[in-house]
Amino acid sequence: MSFTAFTDCFCPRFKKNRFDGISPEDFYSENLTKEEQENFNAVHLAFENWSKGKETYLTCPHCEAESKIDDYNLGKTLACSNIGFTFWNWSEFTTDFLNEIKTILGSDIKVILGHL
Ligand SMILES: [Zn+2]
Repeated sequence: MSFTAFTDCFCPRFKKNRFDGISPEDFYSENLTKEEQENFNAVHLAFENWSKGKETYLTCPHCEAESKIDDYNLGKTLACSNIGFTFWNWSEFTTDFLNEIKTILGSDIKVILGHL
């Protein structure tokens, strides 16, 4: 399993980004410190566990809180979910549309944006 490097991984406790100050390019260079690389590797391992259906916790390097990976804010390009929908070439969703989807699913939703 591999991921495109991402730079948003906000702890649910204090909303602090574990990758603060790291650019996507840093992940592919020698710029990462050993600690930063370990922080990234921990997330990668957490995703592997989560993708196998295991309840997965991740320890925040800032506050040391242990939280479910599902509860982390992974920015606008990635989320942990049991269901996903893909809409190609749609206009921006209205709040009413998103609220209707939430009501139908009976759950909060995350909107992930991407461009090819
Ligand atoms: Zn934290």
